[in-house]
Amino acid sequence: MRYTAQFLLSATAAEQFPPSGAPEIAFLGRSNVGKSSLLNAIVGEKAARVSSTPGRTRAINFFALIDRAGRRRMVFADLPGYGYAKISKSVSAEWPKFIDPYLAEREALKLCVCLVDANVPARPSDLQLLEWLRTAGREFVVVATKADRLSGNTRARNLAELKKGLEIDEILAISAKTRFGIGELWTRVDKATG
Ligand code: GDP
Repeated sequence: MRYTAQFLLSATAAEQFPPSGAPEIAFLGRSNVGKSSLLNAIVGEKAARVSSTPGRTRAINFFALIDRAGRRRMVFADLPGYGYAKISKSVSAEWPKFIDPYLAEREALKLCVCLVDANVPARPSDLQLLEWLRTAGREFVVVATKADRLSGNTRARNLAELKKGLEIDEILAISAKTRFGIGELWTRVDKATG
């Protein structure tokens, strides 16, 4: 691990967000997409465990990433999973009220890592989220999780369909299980925070 993850706090209201400081990366995705597993693969079990603790799954969980010299290099914001509610007019309608202000106004936020399952076709809620981020002018990267479950042609076909369905030019295939794609994700995170 390049960094140690230090849990900062769980926020369920905008007043509780930590002071905006180090560059921030937000992780977003439908429930069960593999967000905890990915956090575990990139920053260690502690972050994944905190984020999946009951009561914290509806909060934004903030983690500081500390380098070996003890410096806070960046902050990861793990956002609540979405998608269990009925299809709503916008993603934000099914979200707690504090998510919108976070994504719209958070000054330190440099990149949104949006997770979709490589094995599941694009969902309206995913598309809505990306449209929302585009409108808000937020930089994002879409990551296709659990890519180890697919191989060869099936993987290529699913990724191409996801790109089309989500109206994006690029998708990053990743596996928390095999660590495929993790290095590439770090490259994107470093670029956004550097
Ligand atoms: P979350 O609800 O988004 O935090 O999702 P989890 O991280 O809890 O993962 C949901 C399910 O997908 C679990 O059963 C995981 O074991 C599985 N999963 C997550 N990541 C991967 C992966 O990279 N490969 C495979 N094969 N399964 C995964």
